[in-house]
Amino acid sequence: MNNEELFKNIISHSKEYGFIFPSSEIYDGLSAVYDYGSYGAELKNNIRTYWWKAMVQLHENIVGLDSAIFMHPTIWKASGHVDAFNDPLIDNKDSKKRYRADNLIEDYIGKQEDKIEKEVEKAKKRFAEKFDEALYRTTNPRITEIKTNIDTVHGRYKKAMEDSNWADLYQLIVDLEIVCPISGTKNWTEVRQFNLMFSTSMGAMEETSNQLYLRPETAQGIFVNFLNVQKTTRMKIPFGIAQTGKAFRNEIVARQFIFRMREFEQMEMQFFVQPGTELKWYEAWKEKRLAWHHSLGFPKESYRFHDHTKLAHYANAACDIEFQFPFGFKELEGIHSRTDFDLKSHEKFSGKKLQYFDPELNSSYVPFVVETSVGLDRMFLAVMSRALQQEKLEDGTTRDVLKLPAFLAPVKCAVLPLTKKDGLSEKALDIFNKLKLSMYCQYDEKDSIGKRYRRQDAIGTPYCITIDHQTLEDNTVTIRDRDTMTQERISVDQVERIVLEKADIVSALKKL
Ligand code: ATP
Repeated sequence: MNNEELFKNIISHSKEYGFIFPSSEIYDGLSAVYDYGSYGAELKNNIRTYWWKAMVQLHENIVGLDSAIFMHPTIWKASGHVDAFNDPLIDNKDSKKRYRADNLIEDYIGKQEDKIEKEVEKAKKRFAEKFDEALYRTTNPRITEIKTNIDTVHGRYKKAMEDSNWADLYQLIVDLEIVCPISGTKNWTEVRQFNLMFSTSMGAMEETSNQLYLRPETAQGIFVNFLNVQKTTRMKIPFGIAQTGKAFRNEIVARQFIFRMREFEQMEMQFFVQPGTELKWYEAWKEKRLAWHHSLGFPKESYRFHDHTKLAHYANAACDIEFQFPFGFKELEGIHSRTDFDLKSHEKFSGKKLQYFDPELNSSYVPFVVETSVGLDRMFLAVMSRALQQEKLEDGTTRDVLKLPAFLAPVKCAVLPLTKKDGLSEKALDIFNKLKLSMYCQYDEKDSIGKRYRRQDAIGTPYCITIDHQTLEDNTVTIRDRDTMTQERISVDQVERIVLEKADIVSALKKL
């Protein structure tokens, strides 16, 4: 299966097996909005819980928060979102497709970087052991030429973005002869600006109501509650506040399934530190967050850091953890050193002090902030991208199997009587009713046992236990492993322990 087929397969599998449905499907859908089905809701909950426990439960100095989606509209003035949360957009007149102008240029730079990597790979093969990669990268004329070009393009791009100079950004697209990936032409409109926030109004009367925004990030709810939380939890700096919740962005280009949605969920943590120590904490959180991603057990090469050269108005260092989605390496999580920008700005706009008295320094200051921000839906897509596999079996058939980390699987164990007759159903139900108290199990007696195994494989259930005639005699069952498909005979009393050993979240947290 190539990447394009894999991506299509993820979308159709998600729908067929109750993970993700297009929103409002019977009305032909709503662009870039999705609903999570029964198994999708379970998987999403499990990812969220894993993040929450890893952040809040395992760190004595991180506490939680659940702030409202509606917030005072001035908050978005203070945060800079009213003035600066704009994307430059450009249309291709032939394909009628809309793009983010900055993405087109970033893609161009990405392609140049790929060229360098290809040159290096070729040389590696050619020179074998004698190859000095560092020297080659700095002296090879072809590579230095590409690098100089990247630097020039980057310089112009950065300046245009910082100055919000859309004419220059347009000129850069023209000069680089960037073509529309669909029509292949350079027939572009000018670059225009577009605010990504959704607005609505509060109050009974339209005319007297206040304009509100649906929050485009959860972070501001943390900033405006900084002192409430710090005082009520008696936290001392350094400490963090974590929150998960919905965010809304009127994305211009909303393709790629749940990668870029207009309504999505974020899992964010703001870590408050002494000014001057923020870059040390920024490095520490980069490593910690990467380790969390690695703990899922997918290949480490699927992740990489991408340092930002174009820093947002609030940041003094920023990077993304990128994941290799079927459509290439893309941002999964952002880690930002946000300085004291947000708290200072809220002080200014609200007229209230947002300072911390540091008993060690015996003085008050506005803390600096390091943020980690990961999209829950993007995490979901990342997990599905690696977990979904099509396997050829010895008998020539294929099976779709979702090799989810067991602790994330929606159903942990399926309880299957071999037949409905001879009291097997009753015995199986008895086992099921006991097991369901400690984990999400499923009871299934329809169709052949083979078909039932396949259904569980497709939703990622790590274990199936089968109740047969022998069970009635000696209280043993067979336990089938999703990945190896091997079966073992064990006593009924061992089932819970064996399944939980692998599928309980505690086993995953222990490894962090
Ligand atoms: P991008 O460059 O992809 O638009 P961003 O840099 O604007 O993302 P942040 O503002 O840093 O994203 O948001 C933090 C995280 O929230 C992202 O890393 C991503 O996982 C998630 N996220 C942002 N926008 C969306 C979206 N439209 N749909 C789904 N997830 C999103």
